[in-house]
Amino acid sequence: MATAATEIRALTASAFRAPQKFVDFCRNDGKPLRGLVGGKELAGTMNVTFETIDPGTQEVLATVCEMGDAEVDLAVEAAQRAFVGNGKNGWRDLAVEARIALCMKLVELCERDRDVLLACEILDGGKVSELAEGDFGTIRDCAEYFAGVARRIPLGDSDSMKVAEGIRGFTYREPWGVVAGIIPWNYPIVLTAWFMFPALLSGNTILIKPAEDTPLSALYIGKLAEEAGFPAGVINVLPGRGEITGQAIAEHPGVKYISFTGSPGVGQAILRTCDRNGTRMKREMGGNGAAIVLGDADPEVVARMIGRFANQHFGQTCCTIHRIYVDKKIADDFIAAEKNFFENLKIGYQAEAGTQLGAVINATQRQRILKAERDTLARGGKAIVAGGDAEVAGKRGFYLKPSLYRTEPGLNVNPEEVFHTYATICPVSSEEEAMRLANSSPYGLGASVWTKDIDRGIALAKKFRDGTCQVNCHNTIAYGLPYGGQGISGGPGAGVNCEDTFRDYTQVKAVYVAEYPE
Ligand code: NDP
Repeated sequence: MATAATEIRALTASAFRAPQKFVDFCRNDGKPLRGLVGGKELAGTMNVTFETIDPGTQEVLATVCEMGDAEVDLAVEAAQRAFVGNGKNGWRDLAVEARIALCMKLVELCERDRDVLLACEILDGGKVSELAEGDFGTIRDCAEYFAGVARRIPLGDSDSMKVAEGIRGFTYREPWGVVAGIIPWNYPIVLTAWFMFPALLSGNTILIKPAEDTPLSALYIGKLAEEAGFPAGVINVLPGRGEITGQAIAEHPGVKYISFTGSPGVGQAILRTCDRNGTRMKREMGGNGAAIVLGDADPEVVARMIGRFANQHFGQTCCTIHRIYVDKKIADDFIAAEKNFFENLKIGYQAEAGTQLGAVINATQRQRILKAERDTLARGGKAIVAGGDAEVAGKRGFYLKPSLYRTEPGLNVNPEEVFHTYATICPVSSEEEAMRLANSSPYGLGASVWTKDIDRGIALAKKFRDGTCQVNCHNTIAYGLPYGGQGISGGPGAGVNCEDTFRDYTQVKAVYVAEYPE
C-alpha cells in the first residue's frame, strides 16, 4: 500500500534517561576511564585526560585517559602476543566456531546492557532514540552476517593447480595479524561493529581507536569483551585524539592493516603515513550525496522522503543527501514541499520526546556548518530555509537550524560535505543534465533516483559515479552488498558488509611446490 505523504516524517526521539549502570560506568568511582590494553586498564604515561560531553547540553559525561606512543606500543605487543599465542594457541589458531562463540557471547552481553549502549549513542553521540535503536541492532546483525561468512570462506590452503611438470601451486590465506580500526564520531556503535566482527572473525587481533568525541561505547564494549572471555590482547581500546593516539597507531610498524572511517583529508594523510611502513589500509570516507528527482515523481511524497534522509542524524550521515537535482516541471512544488518539511523539523534536545533535529557534535562542527552556509550564499545559492543558530530552552548544546538553498546549473555552491541538515536544490532540464551535475562532485559515496518508472530509475542509477546507487530510497545499507565509496569517498578495499570485506582482513600468498630435484 502506498504511504501517504503526511506519514513520512523525520526520525524522532522518545524520552530517554540514562540508566544507573551508565552513570556508574562514566563516574568510574571518581577516576578517569582508562584505555584497555592487553586485558588491563591503563591510565597512560602522558597523564593526559579529556572530557567527553553530551552535545545537547555540554554536560561532561566522563573524563577519559588519552593513550600515547607508549600505550600504542603496549597494545601492539599485547595484540601480537594474543595473535600468535605460544605458537599454537593464538587467536589465529582458534577454530572458526570458537571465535564465533566468543563474538556471539559479546553480542549477548551488549544486548543485556542495551540501555547502557543506547545511552552512549544518545547522550555521548547526540542521537535520537529512533536512530540509536536501529544502530544498536547492527551489533547482532553484523556479528551474525560475518559469522556466516567466516564459515563459508575458509582460510588456509586453496586447492592446488598444476603449474608445470612436477610443480604445483596453491594459495594460502591468512589474517594480517594486528589490525586497527580508526572510527569517527557519527556512528560509533555501527562502525565499531562493522570493523570489529569481520576483523576478529577472520583471525586478527584488534586495536580500536574511537573518536575523541564519542569514546564511551568502544570502552564499554571493550569491558564486555573481557567479561565475554576474549583472551587478553585480542581486543584493545585506545581512546585519544586523532593527532596523538591515531597518529601513533598509523605510524606503528607492528600494525599490519588499518580500517579507517572518517573524512577524506584525514584518510589521505593516514594512507601516506601507512605507506612508509607498508601497512595496508582500507578507507571509508565522507560523501556529498546527490538525489535526482524525475518529472513523474510526486513532489510532496518525494520531498518528505528526501527530507527524512537528509535529516538522518541531523545530516551527520556519510552517504546522505545534500544535493538535489529536480526536474524543472515539478521544481516549484518540490521546493515548497521540502521547505515545509525542513521548517517543521522539531529542533530540541536529543533525549526529549519529539525531537527530530538535535545539536551537532561539537563547537568546531557548528562553526564549520555556519561557514558553509555563508559560503553557499557567497557562491550564489539562494536561501529557501535560512539556517543559522537555534536556541533550545534550558540547554547549552550546539543547536543549528536546518538550511536549504536554491541553485542553478553552472553554480558550484555546494562543493564539500556539510555535515548537517543542509541541502541545495537545483532545477534541471533533463536527466542527462541532472546526472552530469550529480557526477561532477569528487565524492562518490551514495546517490539516488526518484521516479515511478523503476526501469528508468535503475538505468539511471547505474550511471552514478558512486559506490551505492539507489532507486526511490537512500541510506539503505544491507549485509551482503558492499558499502564503499568511489572517487575521494573510498580507498582500496571492497567497502564494508560483504564477503570481500572479510577477505580484506586477510592476505593471500602463492605457494609453489616442486618435486625435489633428483
Ligand atoms: P575525521 O576524519 O576527522 O576522524 C576520523 C577518525 O580519525 C577519528 O577517530 C579521528 O580522531 C581520527 N584521526 C584524526 N586525525 C588523525 C590522524 N592524524 N591519524 C590517525 N587518526 C586520526 O572524521 P570525523 O570523526 O569528523 O567523522 C566524520 C567523517 O566521517 C565524515 O566525513 C563522514 O562522512 C565520514 N564517515 C564515513 C563513513 C563511511 O562509511 N564512508 C561512515 C561514517 C562517517 P579524533 O576523533 O580524535 O579527531
